Amino acid sequence: MTELWRLGLGQAAQGLAKRQFTATDLVSASLERIRLSEPRLGACLAVLGQEALDRARDLDREGHDPSRPLWGLPVSVKDVFCLKGAPTTAGSRILEDYRPSFEATVVRRLRAAGAVIVAKTNCDEFAMGSSTEFSAFGPTRNPWDPGRVPGGSSGGAAASVAGFQVPAGLGTDTGGSIRQPAALCGCLGLKPTYGRVSRYGIVAYGSSFDQAGPLARRVDDLGLVLAAIAGPDGLDSTASGRPVGDYANVAEARPGELTLGLPDELWAADFDPLVLGVLERARRELAGAGVRFKAVPMPNLRFSVATYYILAAAEASTNLARYDGVRYGHRSGGDPGLLALYRDSRTEGLGQEVRRRIMLGTFVLSSGYYEAYFRKAAQVRRLIQEDYRKALEGCDFLLAPVSSIPAWPFGSFTDDPLTAYQLDMMTLPLNLVGAPGLSMPAGLGGGLPVGLQLMGRAFDEAGLLSAAKALERILPPLGDPPGL
Ligand code: GLN
Repeated sequence: MTELWRLGLGQAAQGLAKRQFTATDLVSASLERIRLSEPRLGACLAVLGQEALDRARDLDREGHDPSRPLWGLPVSVKDVFCLKGAPTTAGSRILEDYRPSFEATVVRRLRAAGAVIVAKTNCDEFAMGSSTEFSAFGPTRNPWDPGRVPGGSSGGAAASVAGFQVPAGLGTDTGGSIRQPAALCGCLGLKPTYGRVSRYGIVAYGSSFDQAGPLARRVDDLGLVLAAIAGPDGLDSTASGRPVGDYANVAEARPGELTLGLPDELWAADFDPLVLGVLERARRELAGAGVRFKAVPMPNLRFSVATYYILAAAEASTNLARYDGVRYGHRSGGDPGLLALYRDSRTEGLGQEVRRRIMLGTFVLSSGYYEAYFRKAAQVRRLIQEDYRKALEGCDFLLAPVSSIPAWPFGSFTDDPLTAYQLDMMTLPLNLVGAPGLSMPAGLGGGLPVGLQLMGRAFDEAGLLSAAKALERILPPLGDPPGL
């Protein structure tokens, strides 16, 4: 019964079904692993130890239930998901003492499927960032090199999965926050189609972009979690009523049947040589296995960064107006008066990057600038959607890098936000389009994980997973992060 923490979701589920170990064994192993690795990783903002153990014991007492696909399996959730009565900070001081009185739909569904939530994971404040360095509660470290960032904003989720604390975690992806940290930490991450998964009970950032999705170490495990959380929800009118696919049981595609489009604009980026080396080797290996490639022009992708940062900031500025010191979290005890209460509560409670986005968003929505910035960006978003549709006409999926550089040393870009925004160029197009995509490990460059991204058609998560299974067989697994 050694090394239960090593098992993926599917393997652990089998062991539970065969009574090789109990839910309590599995959850205890995860909690012990968290205890041992947290000093190094800092992936968790809250560990729900007692609650998780109580729940695992309840499950064991009730007996194994084959109708619940995640029965007894430990998972982590990013700290933007509301858990009734548990801290939910979104990485922000302004929500430090907030305890929701309700549960996010995805959390309710995970539990209904039998999962045990063991931890809430660290993230950039309000999910704004790409390194988890903007968390108000300290950094998360990359499992492969503790001197480097895990990516973000779901950096805690990625480190918890790649660091073997849990077999799977839930993150959110507004502009890459599931796919990019997964790539930088060496695990997999799936961003579903906008509307595939309910956003009810998720701390909002950019409401026309936000989607929740799984991080895991195997393609099959992404499917298991997606199957549990996807589907319509009366509490979120943007959650689609389309039938949910059989994500937990997809057949593996045959490499010889796959034609992958390579977006010119993304493959022409200025890559770190170590990253480029891994990407080229991966492409050779895929081609050797029979995968066909086709270069696809997507000229408007060069506007993705500007477009996204205008629209996402605009949406953030309206979503974050609710943190006014009156109803939620931190309230300033300073100057009297309503305006001072708003001003001081927000100044004390919100970090610099979040304030920057609010200012930017307020500016692009303000009278006289709305047409020049917000409306223009909304129009360019349509052009990017059109590019995406055309690119997929002659191929099955798009294949792209995730990041032009590997995980970077802490502090590399904290004084240079524009360069940091620019680094998101590979992940933003998918969010602007609303289509599904996933990132998976392509190999190690200089001892650091490098990821590849597969993008598909709206609501074809099943097809995406099936192609990813073929790629997973061809691309070599990364092995264990050293020293963990
Ligand atoms: N890095 C991007 C941003 O800061 C994306 C973040 C996300 O997907 N939540 O907005």
